[in-house]
Amino acid sequence: MAAGRRRRPAAMAATTDREARVQETARRILAGVAGSRPRRLSREGLQAGLMEWAMADERLKVQLLRFVDVFPTLRSQAEVAGHLREYFADAGLELPRALRWAVRLATAGTPVSPLATAAVRRQLQGFAGRFIVGRDAGDALPSLRALHRQGIGFTLDVLGEAVVSEREADAYQQTYLALVDGLADEVARWPAVPVVDTAAWGRLPRLNLSLKITSLYSQIDPVDFRGSVAAVKDRLRPIVRRVRERGGAITLDLEQHRFRDLTYAVFTSLLEEEEFRGFDDAGVVVQAYLRDADRDLEALLQWAKARDRRFHVRLVKGAYWDYETVVAAQEGWPPPVFTHKGDTDAMYERLTGVLLENSDRLRPAFASHNARSLAVAIETARDLGVPADGFELQMLHGMGEPLRAAVAGLGFRVREYAPVGELLPGMAYLVRRLLENTANESFLRQAVVEGAAADELVRPPRTSPAFGAEPPRLPAVPDTDPGDPGPFRNEPHADFSRRENRDAFDEALTRVRRDLGRHHPLRIGGRDVDTAERLVSVDPSHPDVVVGTAACAGRAEAEAAVAAARRALPGWRAAPPQARAAVLFRAAALLRRQRFDLAALMTVEAGKTRREADADVTEAIDFLEYYGREALRLGAPRRLGHAPGEHNLYFYEGRGVALVVAPWNFPLAILTGMTSAALVSGNTVIVKPAGPTPVVAARLVAALEEAGAPAGTVNYLPGRGAEVGDFLVRHPGVDLIAFTGSMEVGLHIVREAAAHPGEGVKKVIAEMGGKNAVIVDGDADLDLAVSEVVSSAFHYAGQKCSAASQVVVLDSAYDQFVGRLLDAVRSVRVGPAEEPGTRVGPVITAEARERILSYVEQGRREATLAAVGEAPDDGGFYVAPYVFVDVSPQAVIAQEEIFGPVLAVLRAADLDEALAIAGGVRYALTGGLFSRSPATIARVRREFRVGNLYINRGITGALVERQPFGGFKMSGVGSKAGGPDYLLQFVEPRTVTENTMRRGFAPPEDLLGE
Ligand SMILES: Cc1cc2nc3c(=O)[nH]c(=O)nc-3n(C[C@H](O)[C@H](O)[C@H](O)COP(=O)(O)OP(=O)(O)OC[C@H]3O[C@@H](n4cnc5c(N)ncnc54)[C@H](O)[C@@H]3O)c2cc1C
Repeated sequence: MAAGRRRRPAAMAATTDREARVQETARRILAGVAGSRPRRLSREGLQAGLMEWAMADERLKVQLLRFVDVFPTLRSQAEVAGHLREYFADAGLELPRALRWAVRLATAGTPVSPLATAAVRRQLQGFAGRFIVGRDAGDALPSLRALHRQGIGFTLDVLGEAVVSEREADAYQQTYLALVDGLADEVARWPAVPVVDTAAWGRLPRLNLSLKITSLYSQIDPVDFRGSVAAVKDRLRPIVRRVRERGGAITLDLEQHRFRDLTYAVFTSLLEEEEFRGFDDAGVVVQAYLRDADRDLEALLQWAKARDRRFHVRLVKGAYWDYETVVAAQEGWPPPVFTHKGDTDAMYERLTGVLLENSDRLRPAFASHNARSLAVAIETARDLGVPADGFELQMLHGMGEPLRAAVAGLGFRVREYAPVGELLPGMAYLVRRLLENTANESFLRQAVVEGAAADELVRPPRTSPAFGAEPPRLPAVPDTDPGDPGPFRNEPHADFSRRENRDAFDEALTRVRRDLGRHHPLRIGGRDVDTAERLVSVDPSHPDVVVGTAACAGRAEAEAAVAAARRALPGWRAAPPQARAAVLFRAAALLRRQRFDLAALMTVEAGKTRREADADVTEAIDFLEYYGREALRLGAPRRLGHAPGEHNLYFYEGRGVALVVAPWNFPLAILTGMTSAALVSGNTVIVKPAGPTPVVAARLVAALEEAGAPAGTVNYLPGRGAEVGDFLVRHPGVDLIAFTGSMEVGLHIVREAAAHPGEGVKKVIAEMGGKNAVIVDGDADLDLAVSEVVSSAFHYAGQKCSAASQVVVLDSAYDQFVGRLLDAVRSVRVGPAEEPGTRVGPVITAEARERILSYVEQGRREATLAAVGEAPDDGGFYVAPYVFVDVSPQAVIAQEEIFGPVLAVLRAADLDEALAIAGGVRYALTGGLFSRSPATIARVRREFRVGNLYINRGITGALVERQPFGGFKMSGVGSKAGGPDYLLQFVEPRTVTENTMRRGFAPPEDLLGE
């Protein structure tokens, strides 16, 4: 085959002629598929019938997908029957007759119920069996041999999605190695079948594997790009080596968009290693549904040219479309995928041309079940003079066999993507296939099930006007106009799969480190005030590094701050809400511009890892934007009642001077939330930051001043809690105290404030911690439950009031869950917060570490220590994650808030007991449930009474406005932060009633004005 970019033959047919040939070929493929509908009473027929029903009724489809998803975890006949009832009978769906009978019989509790349940199980296994080629190499061999005999190649993929521990990643690696060893000799003995054994460039390996990199490293995360690439390669290298030794081929699948760059980096950097220099049978995937897919292919091509390399490229459309669009919408990011199906198809056709033009280097494989897409590949190859064995067509095992036969019948090489594995880890795959088969825009659905007209199926893709435009980037968020703020939107988190964000964070860290050690005087009445005594802020990862110093207020400075705040109060309280909100909006803009610097500062001052620090900044911005809008909503006085001769005005007014006592664990977000709420409501504020984080607090106060907060409205007063804190709580000039911190301090403040009234009874808003439980039901998705419990319990070293500190597991899932949890915890990396691979950073101070370790000692006395992570011993304030199992509900470690990376695991016989344990603590802040039973979810929603209950997700990370946050019982007094009632706590409502009748004359209402 000619090297280099192929020239189009001069005699190439005109475009219209080519289009006619494409359509003709597509029609021929379709003709092969026509009449392929299975007979109604065959097994395939019944399955197809069910799918048709599912497609006709979206609700049934959702229930079916969900049932398929949960099914492998159902251990008993009773569980299967229970879920059948909840998913299908109780949901009030109209069911196809076969399913209606099965559900009725299986759930009737009669002697035939077990038989019916078994029949359902058989059906589902049959379903899965359609898509899975065997449990392992031995099991798969007969099918693979049969395929080969028919002239169909295969590529094997081991089922399973992301792994939760390094042990599981090791197991995946071993499975792949075993697959190579189990197949290589056997396939070598098969008789030659030229169409699959040779290509235009020479011999084709029979043994062909596909692999997902996420199954090779449990801690894979683009935020740790280099570390993830290295760790994946360490496990991949032996596999590729073995594949190569045994004459095989291997392709790295592409998964979710966030792993795309990682996958390409793994691929290219591995092939650049000396030992793989001459290896041409590696492959990689390009997803045409990505808006910048053409750049992906171009980059691969340039890489291949620069190094004179050859490899396989599988062109697909992309299997994660729903996931990508949902995640992007949740995060407020532009979707990385096209949202118009025609655009994906058009990109596929465009890249088909590029691949075939370079097929001497990039060995093309066109993976699709779309007759038009396949026909374009075939006809473009013909136009470019690429021989039939110069490319291949690939299909998924179990999807569209007639299509496969039709294409193979045209004389092209076809390869099946054939998953091996057990049903359980394969469910995510199966659900994806079902989603694909039943999606409205699926070619297979339209062609086979809906019998769409051939003309419609073979026509060129209709693109949207956006096709070909630059992929949208996250637009810079415009500064909010106080006159027209528009609706509130959460500030998007940084997408660390984008290199520019990773680089921006690194650069910010460098800047912050250059700027360390600065001194921050008090700010009182808009002036700097210094003190002889200084507070020293250190980096908890490197305690010998001084982040900065702050003046330390005593009583005199506190007195001065109260005086300044009182002086500023009348003017500020009387200022229009728009003017106050404008300060918040401007401050939000200032924080937005410094977002990475502020996050990096939190990494060094509070020991927050990158994602945690970034989320802290975005939450702070959210509070400013949200409370600004809330103040506008509440600010306008309202007319009440409409009796003639009477004018009633209802309005809110600031309470007075607010003392904000902030915690160190959200040094920017919580401080900003409390301060901005007080300020925008018309109060003046004294900010007493937490001892360990005065530098971050100084940045907020500076931003508020720069944003226009008048002198004296925000006063910065770091100092010692016992001295200046208590003094201010008792001070008669303070009207309101907003506190977030421990229960002990919160209760102390409540008592002191009540005992020392000012002008009136002091208002205290106190958010005070929790002892938060997650319940894991018998049918929970353990992949999800394990990883979310680990992050909820251990991220930021468990130092969040929302953190999970106990997990209550139902008996039937206990052993499996705990086994995987312990492995997962051992896989988590503890280390300096600034290292991108760190998942658990330091705790805040040496005293905090001592306190946490004393609970660990307590735990050793009252429960079984089952796992301890590894913590570096380099002077940082590290505490490894600890997991105690078989903990009694009365144990101290199951009752008290530890505020560190210590997790208690408790066993519950049933849901009643689980709820009793989870609710049997003094706190009621957050809680969680992992379950796939609709009835359990409904009951837990009612009966697990905590402030924030999370179902089937982690229990930290509440978002402003979407998940207003806060608890009750001993978790707090006050309403939820980031919610519609929060500002009401900072104001006094007033009613002014005027008698408008004079001498018997009452003016009409509309003349009265406000
Ligand atoms: C052998 C083989 C290997 C594969 N390997 C991978 C892989 O490594 N990674 C991977 O992600 N996928 C992979 N896939 C799956 C593939 O990406 C497609 O999901 C699947 O083949 C369906 O595309 P189609 O061309 O067959 O069908 P079609 O029905 O023509 O296209 C369906 C596809 O169009 C896209 N789409 C659907 N709705 C919209 C919309 N509203 N806007 C824009 N686009 C839309 C989606 O990608 C959807 O899957 C593989 C498929 C095969 C056959």
